[in-house]
Amino acid sequence: MAEESFIVAIDQGTTSSRAIVFNKQSQIAGIGQVELKQSYPHPGWVEHDPTEIWEGTCDVIRSAIKAAGIQPQQIAAFGITNQRETAIVWEKSTGKPVYPAIVWQSRQSESVCEKLRGSEYEQYIRETTGLVVDPYFSASKLTWLFATYPELRESAKEGELLFGTVDSWLIWNLTAGEVHATDPSNASRTLLFDIHSLDWDDKLLDIFGVPSQMLPQVLPSSGQFGNVVPSLFGVEAPIAGVAGDQQAALFGQCCFQKGRAKNTYGTGCFLLMNTGDDDFVSENGLVKTVAWSIDDKVEYALEGSVFIAGAAIQWLRDGLKIIETAADSESLARTSNQEERVYVVPAFVGLGAPYWQSEVRGAVFGLTQGVGRPELVRATLESLAYQTKDLVLAMERDSGAKLQDLRVDGGAAANDYLMQFQADLLLADVIRPENTETTALGAAFLAGLS
Ligand code: ADP
Repeated sequence: MAEESFIVAIDQGTTSSRAIVFNKQSQIAGIGQVELKQSYPHPGWVEHDPTEIWEGTCDVIRSAIKAAGIQPQQIAAFGITNQRETAIVWEKSTGKPVYPAIVWQSRQSESVCEKLRGSEYEQYIRETTGLVVDPYFSASKLTWLFATYPELRESAKEGELLFGTVDSWLIWNLTAGEVHATDPSNASRTLLFDIHSLDWDDKLLDIFGVPSQMLPQVLPSSGQFGNVVPSLFGVEAPIAGVAGDQQAALFGQCCFQKGRAKNTYGTGCFLLMNTGDDDFVSENGLVKTVAWSIDDKVEYALEGSVFIAGAAIQWLRDGLKIIETAADSESLARTSNQEERVYVVPAFVGLGAPYWQSEVRGAVFGLTQGVGRPELVRATLESLAYQTKDLVLAMERDSGAKLQDLRVDGGAAANDYLMQFQADLLLADVIRPENTETTALGAAFLAGLS
């Protein structure tokens, strides 16, 4: 009897690296997970060690295979999903990173973006990439790196350095330096990629001062990226699916049809809506991004990101110390006095979509003597739903269609009070899947399809 085959989904996230082995019924057979060290060299800077990312990923793949109790030969394919926008530059000849990974959250390139905002290039950037000029996306991180270490720019021009987001870094290492590639969902987060022609854009490369020699090849999200070398895990299997984490979650939530949307309630909130082959750029403060490409078919998504969501619950726990666990927020909210209308605006690091105001800070409104712990906790929880509602309204304006239902995942989606409040606020069904590992599942689906 032929042995059952499995797909290994690698989920390289901001705070941890995970690998999940899925069987043909999309059930989880084994998981491996390791935390990732965060480095904050200066206020507002966030960096990771690329070597730790790579070695940790290998470790979790091995432990997931072990936990699943399968033989390496039973692995049919690997899928990759990853923290997006994070920029890594390494030497082509040695594979050594030349600088730590500059994480998506990192603000060290703010001055680069400040110069571009309001310039003759801003409109071009917006229309070509679907994004806004912000340190969040990869390109200005490279501009900053080259301005700080000019010798790196020279080496890059000589073709000695390679750039990639985390997916490319993993693909390059998994194939022992054979393949330097990415997929359109990741490429569309760099500010260097034309989302309409689906290619790197020379003018953008010029604006950000990035030599084209260092860029990865862009291959379909569901397709053949090359084989993982057998010396690593004892099997030579193809990498067959790659997508950025939020797009992978959209796929894992089966939002295959135009108009379907999912929201992830993690540290931040990420709301994505499938817009089919429609590549129009948002006029309401959202970004446009490639969702995935399968064969020659590309689908797009509208995206809104909120920087502080579950992080506001962490603030209640670790900052104010008024709850012991994140889950306590639910029972406390239920005991609160509903007549106290208090509102929390958790703009701790400014506001993301649809406002894009990095200078504003948080506030609490409607305080009376009757407001205590339960009311403050409830208002903080509700702030996740209000921020999501802002994104939904912007999406409805952009797409001209009313949202029918919202598929949800992420840590705070476990909170029933929050989910019910969200449904009431949106006047739409909120659907939480049984398996909330939608990000890894999306990568496994993409790999399985090809
Ligand atoms: P990330 O992937 O961004 O690390 P997760 O999806 O793991 O985030 O979700 C963790 C976040 O969810 C934390 O910020 C935590 O405060 C919040 N969270 C977890 N459980 C609950 C809960 N029951 N109610 C509200 N928030 C929660």
